[in-house]
Amino acid sequence: MALATDLKEALLHLFFPQICPGCQSDLVNHQQLICADCMQSLPCTGFQEMAGNPVEKLFWGRSVIQHASSIFYFIPGTPLQQIIHHIKYKNNAMLGIYMGSIMGTALKNIFSPTTIDLMIPMPLHPIKENRRGYNQASLLCEGISDVLHIPYRNDVLIRQFNTATQTKKSRIARWENVADVFELHKTSSIQHKHILLIDDVITTGASTDACAEMLLKKEAASVSICSLACTM
Ligand SMILES: [Zn+2]
Repeated sequence: MALATDLKEALLHLFFPQICPGCQSDLVNHQQLICADCMQSLPCTGFQEMAGNPVEKLFWGRSVIQHASSIFYFIPGTPLQQIIHHIKYKNNAMLGIYMGSIMGTALKNIFSPTTIDLMIPMPLHPIKENRRGYNQASLLCEGISDVLHIPYRNDVLIRQFNTATQTKKSRIARWENVADVFELHKTSSIQHKHILLIDDVITTGASTDACAEMLLKKEAASVSICSLACTM
């Protein structure tokens, strides 16, 4: 029986080889999504346990955020960059949920259903989401929710028009540019609640800040922010 299972595994591997998205090496164990070396190489920030961490500082003087952190450093050329690329552009939804579960585990000491009422993923433009088939931040929410049992909704915060030209703009212009991009639906679902905004990568924090500001204006009790990675 075990031999038959092994043979089936071996044949599966031969005809449908699974590749680690971080380093392109062969994944011997089909249960794994990322190889052990890449898992070990993920550059943890430890920010989630650190008050006044660099991600929180991004929002100082802007929206009043209860907690902000990123779980990993985004470093170009590393397995994590490849992993994020696979989630965003290669239809690897399972990997997105898996990375969300890693975030959930990292946030276990900080957040629970008693401290966070609702998670909201940072929205993509609807056209972009249609093209991609999903919003990567929603996948992260799904994975976090599997671990922490905090509910999430992706029909509350909506992005109105495309900000594709953003990367060409200066940092200050970007902060101004995002202010009226987001729209809030079903306002009652966020009122008097502690909302956790989830993003894939935080760079300037401009978009996240615009969303936090809107949630607070519409009477969310408080807002926290967490991303898979940050570029600092
Ligand atoms: Zn790997």
